[in-house]
Amino acid sequence: MEVGRLIEAGLLAEDGLARSEGGRRSSLLRIPRTAGLIAAVDLGATSTDVALSTLGGELLVHRGEPGDIKDGPRSVLDRVKEVLSELLAEQGSEAQDVLAIGVGVPGPVEQASGVLRSPPIMPGWDGFPIREAFADEYEAPVFVDNDVNVMALGEHRDGVGKGEDDVLFVKIGTGIGGGIIADGHLQRGSQGCAGDIGHICADPDGPVCSCGNKGCLEAMAAAPAIAAKAEERAKEGLSPALGKVYDQRGTLTAKDVGEAASLGDYHALQIIRESGRLVGQVLAMLVSTLNPSIIVVGGGVANIGHSLLAEIRSTVYLRSLPLATRNLPVVPSKLDQTAGVTGASVLAAEGVLQMPERG
Ligand SMILES: [Zn+2]
Repeated sequence: MEVGRLIEAGLLAEDGLARSEGGRRSSLLRIPRTAGLIAAVDLGATSTDVALSTLGGELLVHRGEPGDIKDGPRSVLDRVKEVLSELLAEQGSEAQDVLAIGVGVPGPVEQASGVLRSPPIMPGWDGFPIREAFADEYEAPVFVDNDVNVMALGEHRDGVGKGEDDVLFVKIGTGIGGGIIADGHLQRGSQGCAGDIGHICADPDGPVCSCGNKGCLEAMAAAPAIAAKAEERAKEGLSPALGKVYDQRGTLTAKDVGEAASLGDYHALQIIRESGRLVGQVLAMLVSTLNPSIIVVGGGVANIGHSLLAEIRSTVYLRSLPLATRNLPVVPSKLDQTAGVTGASVLAAEGVLQMPERG
């Protein structure tokens, strides 16, 4: 019997008996911690998160810190390995207890090789062998995917997408990306690019994007675009709230725009609504293509004020067929800070369980 074999191998343990529903009571099963640990790494443009979880998906410990992806793979991954060994030591564990490592990265990952291909915001990472970078300390297999796919996996496992078969996850931060869960499974497409919605064209005459094309959604609606528009308005003297911060600091961020909007600043509000409308237009196209049952919005910009989500929601509803949206919640991410590491642990656990048996 399969279960018996897994218990013998130490990958499953009996955990008492289930409540009787008539007839013989069945055993409850759980994955014991001794089965091994999963290391979860979530690399953002400006943050590094490392966590340990059980094979069953329980998050044991999580540490997030600022980090700059532009420092390049060696420096960033060395720091990841440092934090990972500290976390393992805290848990009284060692490198050999790690069963699998999951890594989310903010760029396009070629599925077969686990390697980044021409990532627009990650200089030095193109073609870098992330899997091999762990090989000097860990025997565990390493699974790499882009950060938004990984967050979608996290939302599906533990967040607002739990129990839903068709989830559309969108991350709005320094960049914009999408993760598609269809029929219960993450869709990567043939090369791993499915859901990379940040480079869908929102305006053929728009500003030049980091990818080299013009008017990509990301170039027009993500955090740097929001900040650039705000600086323009501040320089023109149109917005007193933004002007005040700009005069003090000489620069503005998307967060400043959110704060100005919450004070009722008209121009700040307009900038946020414009971003929401552009994102909503692209999401409406995806709703017509995929017919999801829920849209989850995450990433740093998702938190700059409810007017962003409201605008995304109303644009999606306006531009989609009533049948597609009659039961389609558009909601903020519940996991937020932990979506990435939760998803990276799902990525690694699923990856190692699907590997052909070794030996
Ligand atoms: Zn682009």
